[in-house]
Amino acid sequence: MRVLIGSMLHETNTFNPILTTLEHFDLWYGDQLFKTSLGQRMEGDPSNWQRFATGGIVDRLRAEGVDIVPTVYARANTSGTIEGSAYQTIKEGFLSAVSMAGKLDGICLALHGSMYAQGEEDPEGDLMSSIREIVGPEMPIVCTLDMHATVTNRLIESVNAFTVYRTAPHMDTYQTGERAVNLLLSIIRNQLQVKTLSVKIPMIISGEQTETAVSPMKELMDLVYETDHNPLIMNADYVLGFPWADTPHHSVRTLVSGEVRHLEELQSVAAYLATAFWEKRYELGYSTEAYPLDEALDIAMAELKGPIIISDAGDNPTAGATSDVTLVLNRLLQRKMENVLIAVIVDKEAFDLCKAAGVGAQVRLALGRLEPSPEADPLRVEAEVLHVKSGLEAKTSSWWNSDAAVLRSEGVTFIVAEQRMAVYNPAYLEEVGLNPHDFNIIVIKSGYQSPYYRKIAARSLFALTPGNTNLDIASIPYQVAPRPIFPLDKNFTWNI
Ligand SMILES: [Zn+2]
Repeated sequence: MRVLIGSMLHETNTFNPILTTLEHFDLWYGDQLFKTSLGQRMEGDPSNWQRFATGGIVDRLRAEGVDIVPTVYARANTSGTIEGSAYQTIKEGFLSAVSMAGKLDGICLALHGSMYAQGEEDPEGDLMSSIREIVGPEMPIVCTLDMHATVTNRLIESVNAFTVYRTAPHMDTYQTGERAVNLLLSIIRNQLQVKTLSVKIPMIISGEQTETAVSPMKELMDLVYETDHNPLIMNADYVLGFPWADTPHHSVRTLVSGEVRHLEELQSVAAYLATAFWEKRYELGYSTEAYPLDEALDIAMAELKGPIIISDAGDNPTAGATSDVTLVLNRLLQRKMENVLIAVIVDKEAFDLCKAAGVGAQVRLALGRLEPSPEADPLRVEAEVLHVKSGLEAKTSSWWNSDAAVLRSEGVTFIVAEQRMAVYNPAYLEEVGLNPHDFNIIVIKSGYQSPYYRKIAARSLFALTPGNTNLDIASIPYQVAPRPIFPLDKNFTWNI
């Protein structure tokens, strides 16, 4: 048996004005693709907590003795709209590999589902419909998707079945790959005619409202797990969409895959899951206490025991923000707060200046942007350089580390990073010479906080700051989102 595999992963934040170019992608071809199953992307994360769907796909296919035909692995960290030519290069890589693959029994690709490129607002639908054209209507195709996929009809019609991450934060990416292979092998071996039915729910929702360990998302996921016991359903999942893109495809969806001879049951389960989700729309609040910035700071200051971890949620790089907004730092300085750390503000020029000045120097910085708009002024701040860390992996694709300078201005310590990075693991703070337990308050550029931060937090808070990842969805100025849609519109009825 021969199965073609590949992966195209990017979550596109169209509010971030910086284009994502080809060089932002890890782009591997052919046998290089097997690297992903070794978890190499998780350097700096000793527990290898998150692996990739491709790892599960490769391992499972190997365990079944299937010949694997590797094609393209393209992955970039969440960031702005993808340059049109970058997407076309990736797409052409896939199409030529599929054309030259020879006889295949099936295709299993790991996709994100919320990509957006210049000139193509639905890259996954475009790619899969093009692949379908080449391989014909009979070829079994199964794809994995991120739970935050914004899925179109074109994508659904081009693919037989999907498996979707069932945890957020995503802890089951590898298992989602394994599930996809199990589905594909079942289709191939039993020669099944399989398709996916979907019900589209008119909602825009953030991951910060839908962590799967938190009610009511937890109970909604229980409904999904129950469908695993339904013998007529091969897979059922929710895809929740990604709110920080201006796209006509916004929606939450159910995706229910099974044999075409059971269409009625598929439709009924898809509708049942959709209705359950819609009915919970007013209960899907933030999964962590959320407040306007000043209120969050007041609450944190009143706590006796630290560290209180505050997410600067509007400038969250893991959801594609630029991560250079200095609004919170400015506020901390204005309020003369003590014993506070900010991790991290990205500003390469400021980092270079600190590095050249050296430890112990007093520097004057024009740092980042005071507001999340391209024209905003930088924050002018005088600070002492406490520490300079260099020699950390400086590839553009690195996401967990960056060279950085640690500075202090009065009671506020802040980290200026050379490149945009995910502040995912507090081990990074130690890497730059800081002990997280030395601070009463730590502000991180993040949305929902990773299990690592949860572990050290005396209390976790969201600060509802403005920015590319504004959590106040009703206030985001969408131009092309379909209407009516919740929560932009509240008083409308929706029936399947
Ligand atoms: Zn996601």
